[in-house]
Amino acid sequence: MGAHHGQILRILRDEGPQSRAALARRSKLSATTLTHVTAHLLRDGSVLESETSGSIGVGRPAQAVRLVPDAHSVAGVHIGAGHVQVAITDLKAAPKATASFEFDVHGADPDRVVSDVAAMVMKLAAEVQIDTGKLLGIGVGVPGPVDFERRTALASINVGWRNVPIAGKLERAIRLPTVVEHNVTAMALAESCYGIGRQVPALLFVYLKTGLGAGLVVDGVPFRPGGHGAVELGHIQITPDGARCACGNRGCLETFLCEKALMAAAGVIGSAPADLMAGVEQNGPAWDTVIGHLTTALASAVNLLTPDLIVFGGYLGQAPESLFERLRADVPPRVMPHMREILKFERTSFGAQSGAIGGAAVALDHFFYSGALH
Ligand SMILES: [Zn+2]
Repeated sequence: MGAHHGQILRILRDEGPQSRAALARRSKLSATTLTHVTAHLLRDGSVLESETSGSIGVGRPAQAVRLVPDAHSVAGVHIGAGHVQVAITDLKAAPKATASFEFDVHGADPDRVVSDVAAMVMKLAAEVQIDTGKLLGIGVGVPGPVDFERRTALASINVGWRNVPIAGKLERAIRLPTVVEHNVTAMALAESCYGIGRQVPALLFVYLKTGLGAGLVVDGVPFRPGGHGAVELGHIQITPDGARCACGNRGCLETFLCEKALMAAAGVIGSAPADLMAGVEQNGPAWDTVIGHLTTALASAVNLLTPDLIVFGGYLGQAPESLFERLRADVPPRVMPHMREILKFERTSFGAQSGAIGGAAVALDHFFYSGALH
């Protein structure tokens, strides 16, 4: 029965309040099943039924079933290279509380990072007066691919982790069900369900921080080729005899678009500012190189994956408008004709919180909108 609950909850999330008749038409569930599912959701508090503003004329006023976003909460976690974001959100991924911390990527002990994540989730839950045990679960976005069961980070090369069972570790530390997803795929899912990508069939998210990652969601479902789920846009080879990349190859896009290379191009010493790309823009030749290589890689990605929308986060999400103008002008001529009219480029809807909201979207997908709770 859980799957039917999930179906009804997704319809209410994506299409707003509905009469029972509309829900029946939309879901194709039998009247008996729908009555049973609705009664269950009403008892649980996930939905409520109230009179709509519109009347059906004579007789009883029309009743609509609506989602109650505040009925439950989840925790979303983003683990990046040296940076962690945590958020507690409602059922529409709206943050109630957020926090972040840094860790040293050199010899980073996953147990230490997990215990700090657990402590931060508990602290944030206390801040918004939610009993930690009442959270539906935790969604964690990790760098690099994850295993098929979405419990283990297989290879986070910028953190130096291999086969780290993040979900099991976090469940032992905080006693909440946990699911793991590739961090940029998590961001793509959040945009697709709650952000600028609603109603968009295929959405590619491109995230630039320490390195460059990408994630694809098609019809609301994360694309996990081979079950692993990481679109390795950063490792498209741009120049065969280029600099050595963290992956072992040479001349990957990430050797040009990574924090270290961009700091050098912008002449930044110390820690990188959030608007790092504005600094690179001041260096004309470097800016042209960065945009040229990004255009080449994106054109290949568009021809292979046919996204309708590309959403940018991290340093790219805060890049000067001139980057977007150049991509909108330069990428379309280099992709297949039918994609030229469709393709759009936007900044993330969630600003600096895109990672944590991504984690929350994964938790909501796995523990609530799947119907697992019911
Ligand atoms: Zn590489």
